Amino acid sequence: MKFSTRAIHVGQEADPTTGATIVPIYQTSTYTQSAVGEHKGFDYSRTVNPTRSALEAQLASLENARYCSAFASGMAATAAVLNICSAGDHIVVTDDLYGGTYRLFSRVLNRYGMRFTYVDMSDLDAVRAAIVAETKLIWIETPTNPLLKVVDIAAVSALRDPQRTTVVVDNTFASPYFQQPLALGADVVVHSTTKYIGGHSDVVGGAAMTDRAEIYDIIKFHQNAVGGVPGPHDAWLTMRGAKTLALRMREHAANAARVAEFLEGHDEVERVYYPGLASHPQHAIAKAQMSGFGGMLSFVLRGPVERAFAFARETQLFSLAESLGGVESLLCHPARMTHGSIPKEDRERRGVTDGLLRLSVGIEDCDDLIADLRRAIERSARG
Ligand SMILES: *Cc1c(COP(=O)(O)O)cnc(C)c1O
Repeated sequence: MKFSTRAIHVGQEADPTTGATIVPIYQTSTYTQSAVGEHKGFDYSRTVNPTRSALEAQLASLENARYCSAFASGMAATAAVLNICSAGDHIVVTDDLYGGTYRLFSRVLNRYGMRFTYVDMSDLDAVRAAIVAETKLIWIETPTNPLLKVVDIAAVSALRDPQRTTVVVDNTFASPYFQQPLALGADVVVHSTTKYIGGHSDVVGGAAMTDRAEIYDIIKFHQNAVGGVPGPHDAWLTMRGAKTLALRMREHAANAARVAEFLEGHDEVERVYYPGLASHPQHAIAKAQMSGFGGMLSFVLRGPVERAFAFARETQLFSLAESLGGVESLLCHPARMTHGSIPKEDRERRGVTDGLLRLSVGIEDCDDLIADLRRAIERSARG
């Protein structure tokens, strides 16, 4: 079965007790047992819940993975995957990274004796140099946030010894529709399902997928032992959103491509970052490892940084908000919003300057989106 069919059918069998076509929201914490130790495979909802299991089957299928564990957030999924590591282990990480992941690594897990090295993974020599004997895990984010750098997943995966080092890809930006990291050599995929998979900005969630049973066991153990699980209603909303992922991603990417071209051709725009543009430094890698370029892009307006703030006040369809991946278009100022927790000097060195603006291009009519951007650019020039 192909992607769209799997999104709608895998894990979505009619309810065995009633025939309900749509998987019910099993709003229960526990299950009645027929005798001591005799039950239908369900004992307690932190451990297992039928609505969550349906979501896990659906999401595993979307990443072409054997296993999936769903979590209450992308960060909970990330923390569970890092349970592969113990004190003394070393982790190599993409330097242009989701701010919350950086915070988890640098302010929580480092206190447990894990060591993190951040490298620009578009430079393979830098990745090779960062790998040491204790390197237990390589954490790849691609395309990166907010600069949309592209990391060659197959090339980075080929640099490590698979017996010793696990490769994880945060696939949130591309979505499984456009990028399949397991097929490129990665061992684990992590998602913030809050973004494209849920797709409607109405539920927070996360997931981790893998083909490897021994890794799944570690993640699953952590899911039950720590308990960062989604409730049945959240699992259900995520599952409903994921059914239309293919449809939405095609529209997000088509709109983002048009917006990127519009911005790149505009006299008042200094620079556009979008993997689908021929001017993007890793365009060739993006073309080889992704089947589409997604809905995220960043750009810098000409003139003083105040102009970026003025622009952010002037858009009407692009709402100024954190997050991404919903049907509605969003605008974000990374230096002050998503990446505010990274020290200014560090941030600027990585290219996240005060003039940088990030767009999550939604699936509204693209003519309206471009008209909104054109008007905001003109008005921002007047201050
Ligand atoms: C949002 C996001 C996360 C964190 O997910 P939450 O669901 O907010 O916990 C991780 N990685 C990326 C790339 C994200 O955009």
